Amino acid sequence: MNIDHHLDAATIIAYTAGTLDEAFSFVAASHLSWCPTCRETARQAALIGGEFLGELEGTKISEGCRNQTLSMIDTATLHRFPNSPPARGEVPNPLARLLGGVALADLKWKRKAPGLALFDLPLSAASHGRLFLMRIAPGKAMPEHGHGGEEITLILSGAYNDKFGRFAKGDVADLDEDVEHQPIVEKDFACVCLVATEAPTRFKSWPARLIQPLIGI
Ligand SMILES: [Zn+2]
Repeated sequence: MNIDHHLDAATIIAYTAGTLDEAFSFVAASHLSWCPTCRETARQAALIGGEFLGELEGTKISEGCRNQTLSMIDTATLHRFPNSPPARGEVPNPLARLLGGVALADLKWKRKAPGLALFDLPLSAASHGRLFLMRIAPGKAMPEHGHGGEEITLILSGAYNDKFGRFAKGDVADLDEDVEHQPIVEKDFACVCLVATEAPTRFKSWPARLIQPLIGI
C-alpha cells in the first residue's frame, strides 16, 4: 500500500490526547493501523504531550474531581481502539472488529442514489459525529460539496480524484469545513470509503440540494 495523503497533524494530536470525537477517532485509528508515517507522528505527539504534562506544577484537586477524571479515562474513546499491528486485509483492524469479520461486499448496503450506497456504523450515544461506509460506482462524480463541518474519509478500495490529487487505498482526506471539492471515482472499480462527518455534507448545486435529504448524507 502506497499512502500519499495523511491525517492532519492537529487530528493526530487530538487523537493521541483522546479529545477527538468518536467517529473521527475511529477513522484516525483505522488510518493509523495502515500508516507507519502517521503512527510515528502519533508516537511523537504522545511523547511531547507527556513531557508537557510532566512540567506542569502540581495542583491540588478534590477527591471527587480525581475520581471523576479516573473514571473518564476508563471510558475514553482511545481505549476502544487500542494500537494494533498493521493489517494486511481488506479493511483496517478497527473496522474489521466492528464488522465482526463480514466482508464489505456482504454488508446490507442501502442504495441512496444511482451509483451511491451507504452503510451506517454504530456509535455510542455520546458521539456528535456520524460514521458510515460509502460506496460510489465506477466513473461516478459526487456532487461538488462543502461540509458544514469537518470530514475525514479513508479510502478502503478503488480510487477517486479531486483537486487535491488521487486518493487510493489507505489515503485519507482530512478536510476542514470550508473546503469544497468534487471527487470523481476512477472508471475501473467502485470506490469504498470509511467516512466520519461532524454535520451533514452540504451540496452546492441546487439539484444536489434537492436530493440531499433523500439520499441522507
Ligand atoms: Zn498517514
